[in-house]
Amino acid sequence: MQIRTIAKKLPRPIKNTLKTAYGAIPSRLRLGRAFWETYHFLQESQWWDAGRLQDCQMRQLERLLAHCYTNVPYYQRVFDERGLKPSDIQSPSDLQKLPYLRKEQIRKEPQAFLARNRRQDRLEHRYTTGTSGQPLQFPVDYDELEREWAFAFHQWSRVGYVPGDARAEVRGTQIPGPKPYEWDPVIRVLRLSPVVKDKETVQFYLDTIRSNHIRFLYGYPSSLTYLASLIERYKVSVNLTLTALLFASETLYPWQRSLAERVFGCRSYNFYGMAEHVVIGGECESSPAFHCMPQYGITEVDPKTGEITGTGFLNHAHPFLRYKTADVATQPIQSGCPGCGRNYFPILADVEGRLQDFVLTPEGVPICSCVLTFPFKQRRTIARVQIVQETFNRVILRSAPVGEADAQYEAELTEAYAGLQHILGEGVTIRKEGISPEEYMGQGKLRFILSHLPREIRCYDGSGES
Ligand SMILES: [Zn+2]
Repeated sequence: MQIRTIAKKLPRPIKNTLKTAYGAIPSRLRLGRAFWETYHFLQESQWWDAGRLQDCQMRQLERLLAHCYTNVPYYQRVFDERGLKPSDIQSPSDLQKLPYLRKEQIRKEPQAFLARNRRQDRLEHRYTTGTSGQPLQFPVDYDELEREWAFAFHQWSRVGYVPGDARAEVRGTQIPGPKPYEWDPVIRVLRLSPVVKDKETVQFYLDTIRSNHIRFLYGYPSSLTYLASLIERYKVSVNLTLTALLFASETLYPWQRSLAERVFGCRSYNFYGMAEHVVIGGECESSPAFHCMPQYGITEVDPKTGEITGTGFLNHAHPFLRYKTADVATQPIQSGCPGCGRNYFPILADVEGRLQDFVLTPEGVPICSCVLTFPFKQRRTIARVQIVQETFNRVILRSAPVGEADAQYEAELTEAYAGLQHILGEGVTIRKEGISPEEYMGQGKLRFILSHLPREIRCYDGSGES
């Protein structure tokens, strides 16, 4: 992977030549050692019994805690202040002896989370997408992303994906250069711009996917369903032989799934994960519930609020122990799946909303995003929505249509507006405003709720703790 780090710094034409040459190497060699080690381990350990998975999880936890205590100043202090040693944690439930970790703590003293035994030139820098606040930046080990991909590919193997299979990606990123696409021969990915302006571009995308024999489409639910809606609107013949759609990074609504599956003529796969790499869980062959993977970390679910907390095993450069994700698991929560036979734990029926995403009514009642999305869930013509809270009694409903705004869009927007007014109450004035496709597609994910209320009020997190 060091070659990849060096290659990043090269001028673009040289990089492209190298990429083409590199792309000719079989995937077995191209994906690094860390990838294959992890991938083979997961393909085998997915069928282990619960006891063996628990043992394996505990060994990884011990290694992580010993590392944190020796090398990471913040955790060293946390242990010392409580008179604890890593050996005092003998089971995942003993983790409760340690405090929760919130983003704010990391922002307060970012240096204290960096492991002292890591060499700067062997780190890569990652950041969160900032859907629940300002993005958080942190380093990861140079091979962590390979391991992360191994987890994603392992889950995708449930719908037939084999490492090295080409895929087309439609995500929130803009494509550099004048063309609306780029082909990366190294990882065999065709990246398509989510900003599609006309029928010709839609046709061109489909032709390019077909001529490259691509069988998997990967992207945000909003981007893939936007493309699907345009295909329907322009009546373009799809004529693809896709194996599966691979969704990532956003809540997937049932209408989005059925629309995309109908238009692209194949099944789809969804999983739950995050940039901080503390929890990962995907669907299986027979159930849409998220099977959290014990090989990846320890997933805790607050019995009162349903909030998911994760301790991730992948990142030793900037470890996250008991990190509060602000995502909420819905009931029921099980251990083990009778459908596929995997003894993964926990298995979450669904994950919705973010605790910190809420609108406060003039009465001081927080209304969370999982409720506020209701008026928008079954809409076919509304591509994107954002709710901006300006003051306690003033809210802006920002929205964008699928393709052009037409009478059906206006009708759905009026209905959704009424639904939102009903939820927020008559004391709140709602103003409508448009979002341009460039804004929501060009700059990554758009936060569903944007609050301009004072920070102290916004940081209510539903747990009752400060
Ligand atoms: Zn299952």
